[in-house]
Amino acid sequence: MTDIRNADVTCVKCGMSNNIKIFASINSNNPELRVNLISGQIWAWNCKICKENNNTIYPILYHDMSNRFMVQYIDEKMPGRDLALTRMLPSSEQLKSMATMKGYRFRLCGTLPDFVEKVLIATTGLDDIAIEACRPDFPRPKDGPDSKRLDIEFKFTEIAEGPPKAIVFRPSPFAYQGLERALSSSVPFDVYLMAASRIKACMPAAAILGEEFITVDKSYLWKWFDKDTAQYIGPEQR
Ligand SMILES: [Zn+2]
Repeated sequence: MTDIRNADVTCVKCGMSNNIKIFASINSNNPELRVNLISGQIWAWNCKICKENNNTIYPILYHDMSNRFMVQYIDEKMPGRDLALTRMLPSSEQLKSMATMKGYRFRLCGTLPDFVEKVLIATTGLDDIAIEACRPDFPRPKDGPDSKRLDIEFKFTEIAEGPPKAIVFRPSPFAYQGLERALSSSVPFDVYLMAASRIKACMPAAAILGEEFITVDKSYLWKWFDKDTAQYIGPEQR
């Protein structure tokens, strides 16, 4: 269910208190809210006194019921993050039964670019671990004129129907404003399908779904597969 609350926040310009609507959780069956989340508009509000446009970033749980995906965003810079997490998240028994009975995935995100990417992945029904395997990797050179440009992290953006069908990655507009229109990188959909089927064949179901909220990024993938050979290793063989 979409959970709407009220909170008093202070305008950055005039310092006056405003009572705003905040969304503790958002359900996928509310497409308008989902669009506002992806654009970042959900955290924006106008001061009722001076009309200043403010942005108040707060945690949100995104629940995609049809693709069985739950994504909790709580910024890594938020003070008291660990305590807030224990209050916010469902109990481990609840999560375990949702994972085993319904095949739910539980993901935790600490940055806005990560969160918005996971919401997009959830919406398309893709496997986010396989997306990590496909994500273009630009190792940063130690020096040289291109070092800054190559340090950009690409985020999943969309599926291009093609032909050929492909997974499209771009820089996140939340991290590199404007660059998302200039840069993109595509991976053939077949490459994604191969990665997804290997992950499904090798990894234990609990490690794919997560019996608690887990952070799935590239380093999570390399816990299970060797970075150089792409062979399955599993954390216990390390
Ligand atoms: Zn104001």
